[in-house]
Amino acid sequence: MKISETAMRPLKNPPKDATTTNHKLLVQGGFVRQLMAGVYTYLPFGLRVLRKIEQVVREEMDAIGGEEVLMPMLHPADIWKKSGGWDGVDVLFKLQSRIGKEYALGQSQEEVVTPLMQEFIKSYRDLPKAVYHIQWKFRDELRAKSGILRGREFYMKDMYSWHESQEDFDEFYEKAKEAYLKVFTRLGLVSKVTEASGGSFSDKVSYEFEVLTDAGEANILYCGGCEFCVNVDDIDKYKEGDVCPKCKKRKLEPSKAAEVGNVFDLGEKYVKAFDLSFTDKEGNKKYPVMGCYGIGISRTMGVIVEKFNDDKGILWPEEVAPFKVTLIDLDKKGEAQEIYEQLNDAGVEVLWDDREESAGVKFADSDLIGNPYRVVVSEKTIKAGGVEVKKRSENEVKIVSIEELIKVLNG
Ligand code: ATP
Ligand code: MG
Repeated sequence: MKISETAMRPLKNPPKDATTTNHKLLVQGGFVRQLMAGVYTYLPFGLRVLRKIEQVVREEMDAIGGEEVLMPMLHPADIWKKSGGWDGVDVLFKLQSRIGKEYALGQSQEEVVTPLMQEFIKSYRDLPKAVYHIQWKFRDELRAKSGILRGREFYMKDMYSWHESQEDFDEFYEKAKEAYLKVFTRLGLVSKVTEASGGSFSDKVSYEFEVLTDAGEANILYCGGCEFCVNVDDIDKYKEGDVCPKCKKRKLEPSKAAEVGNVFDLGEKYVKAFDLSFTDKEGNKKYPVMGCYGIGISRTMGVIVEKFNDDKGILWPEEVAPFKVTLIDLDKKGEAQEIYEQLNDAGVEVLWDDREESAGVKFADSDLIGNPYRVVVSEKTIKAGGVEVKKRSENEVKIVSIEELIKVLNG
């Protein structure tokens, strides 16, 4: 893509109203625009990142047998009344039509997916099943001021599963936790798994996936020596400075963290409310064990920015970067056109800064946008044998031939 092709370019300065790093850098870099607190438009660069995160999540959900569907955002009130969510879920957005009919905006999808799957789950032979979708969610959050970390409208992957027995559920639960760790590792994040209570969903045990960052809202205690981690907003059994109950070697340290995902054992709450039952091998009617599994895709994008930035801008991990490389031509003698085409032909995602701007502006914007590589071409670099390549995360520059460049970028 050529920068000249998009109207939505980086800004000289961050927005004045932004207080968090992700909000500042995402707006300044040309990734998002805020419509109001907690509600954002994704611009072309931002949409590329969101789609890449989504794709990683999709691949890992498919790999554990999840079937993808797309469920609606507009829900009839009666399903929320049936589950108790109409009065019980404080963040539920409720609306009324012009003839007085009541609706809710999806804040989660148990109320839709459970009656949906009632049609398809009749016998033990139909189990286990896992269904997921990637869809916008709406929540009447009281505080939405951490950029895209806490939205009133946000993008989430939510999966639901049904099992014949608790043992079968537990087995899948473990698989889902492993898949989550894979997702976050691929996204360049270190996520800690905390044990927490099930919140409004259930009294059963749930797990949260937390990324340490001051921009997060969760308060956790973690062990620097092993993977022990606990959310102290939920469980007050542990104190700062306590010896780690797991490895018994280090003391627990406090940190702020952002919850990027979680998994819940829902037990029979929803299957009972919507009478999703099956006939077991002996011919008895039984309720399956149900689980739900969420990943905050838009929040994860914000967390990535919070984790990977410096005073110049964003440093996107390779798997989610909007482009692999920013191409800058310094003297506009036509060398860049050919390199741009060669890179595109080789399947490299390249953002060519073809504007009539100074080298200083182009270098600054390249760092701000944060693609993993920067390639500069000029008469000087051609004379020296090719182009100058630099990693966003390193200071070293190198002159390489185009063939070498393609190898580096595709390697
Ligand atoms: P939180 O404690 O942060 O409010 P939650 O427990 O309400 O999260 P879930 O309902 O389980 O979250 O949603 C699944 C995932 O969706 C969360 O792990 C988080 O990553 C993301 N998420 C939840 N609420 C928001 C929000 N308001 N904005 C952006 N992402 C969110
Ligand atoms: Mg919440």
